[in-house]
Amino acid sequence: MSTSVNVNGIEFQPRLLINGEFVEASDKGTFNVINPATGEISCKVPEATEDDTNRAAAAAKAAQPAWAALDPTKRGAYLKKLAALLREHKSTLAHLEAISMGVPVSHYIHADMGADELDYFSEAWPHIQGQSSVNTPGYVAMTFRQPFGVVACIIPWNVPVYFFAAKAAAALITGNTVVLKSSEKAPLAVAYAAELITKAGFPPGVFNVLSGHGLPSGRCLARHMDVRALSFTGSSRTGKLIQEEAAKTNLKSVTLELGGKSPAIVFDDANIEQALSATMMSILVNSGQVCMANSRVYVQKSVAPKFIEAFTQRMAAVRGGNPLDPQTQMGPQADEVQYKNIMSYIEEGKKNGTLAVGGNGKLDETKGYFVEPTVFLNTPEDAKIMKEEIFGPVLNINTFETEEEVIAKANDTEFGLYAAVFTNDISRAMRMAKALESGYVSINCSSPTMGRDLPFGGYKGSGQGREGRLYSMDHFLEVKSVIIKLDEAKL
Ligand code: NAD
Repeated sequence: MSTSVNVNGIEFQPRLLINGEFVEASDKGTFNVINPATGEISCKVPEATEDDTNRAAAAAKAAQPAWAALDPTKRGAYLKKLAALLREHKSTLAHLEAISMGVPVSHYIHADMGADELDYFSEAWPHIQGQSSVNTPGYVAMTFRQPFGVVACIIPWNVPVYFFAAKAAAALITGNTVVLKSSEKAPLAVAYAAELITKAGFPPGVFNVLSGHGLPSGRCLARHMDVRALSFTGSSRTGKLIQEEAAKTNLKSVTLELGGKSPAIVFDDANIEQALSATMMSILVNSGQVCMANSRVYVQKSVAPKFIEAFTQRMAAVRGGNPLDPQTQMGPQADEVQYKNIMSYIEEGKKNGTLAVGGNGKLDETKGYFVEPTVFLNTPEDAKIMKEEIFGPVLNINTFETEEEVIAKANDTEFGLYAAVFTNDISRAMRMAKALESGYVSINCSSPTMGRDLPFGGYKGSGQGREGRLYSMDHFLEVKSVIIKLDEAKL
């Protein structure tokens, strides 16, 4: 049985939402959610079985025709209600996220971000448009855009409620029904958001929410013959497994938003103060657990000493704290696996580069999964910590002399999610933007800065497809060609 957690005097018991009902896992199985700041168990959460996953997919399949037939303004009205409820309950969602994946309550913006997406997509239905033409003599030709049917959304733990809302909103407004699986590291706020789905009055089966690990429920969704489209955000490793399952079963349409190893490039003509604060924030926000965090910083040689001195001094001053304390600016890593992973990369880094700041974990001292912000210098480009995603507050600063040299270094990676360039020379900025192999390029700012209406997604191993307000609905709409023969003899 799952157990409850007390949030501001209210008992909340996480359960699965299947066909409009809150249920335990069919075998009563659960898994523990650990508070990453204390190492204590926050609560026990249902581990969805294959049977639960199949029932959720069946409920979504049964509910889909009526949902797709509904006036889109009515579909939008449900999304709007859910957006309002996310905003209303954001302090509870913040608390639940703090005790599962450690984001400080002072920084909790995920509920507002998610609500904004729901609000946007609630009114986006007029953009569901086909085309028409009279280019085929004797015929009128047109296309329809229609829902796939059942869509699965598999989300990571770093910004859970945002992904919950953003993926589901685009899938639902286009007339699909949804089975969403949260991450085993951060299931609490999403399970609470599932209660808000029923409060918003969604018809049973339209929006189902499961908690559980990749195995069995995630894999079951990836293999499921009735799931026709799957939107995934997570690691490149899991993305490949999902793609493989889809290829072996029903060739469902898969969108992949995966990992990164993002470069930030600082030229000597840049505003150095601006570059310092932007690159620091990029690697520290969410304790470095952001797909687009600039984990490789390249600084032009003439300004490198000044940049490195200021950067390392400021990083050394950053301290982690309890995420429930409103003063805390940086929380722990999400869980033990993350912590151990990051610490092993730091040990690896010590073998190749020069450790300038940090390098220690604080588990023994604090019982929490805190890692010191860590800076390496001059690590060889082919070292493991320069090639693999660390997903923690760890970066390397290397130097360069020419544009050609830094473009080659920045692009020498299998990832391609986000690249930042700092320069006051507009032609150089544009040359760099053209040359960088990255789905996003920012000039004089760094991740997570994003344009509201721009697409987001990766080049190379960082993903397939683009998400965003003008893009996400495309993943959830089939295109049908319709041709009509005219009786032109009457003319
Ligand atoms: P993960 O791949 O371990 O897990 C993501 C989700 O996939 C979880 O819900 C997990 O349970 C599920 N899963 C695991 N194995 C599965 C399987 N075999 N079949 C189906 N589902 C399975 O990733 P994570 O640790 O939760 O998230 C961190 C990763 O996500 C990082 O690599 C980060 O860069 C990436 N990320 C990317 C973006 C983006 O937009 N590109 C955004 C956030 C995070």
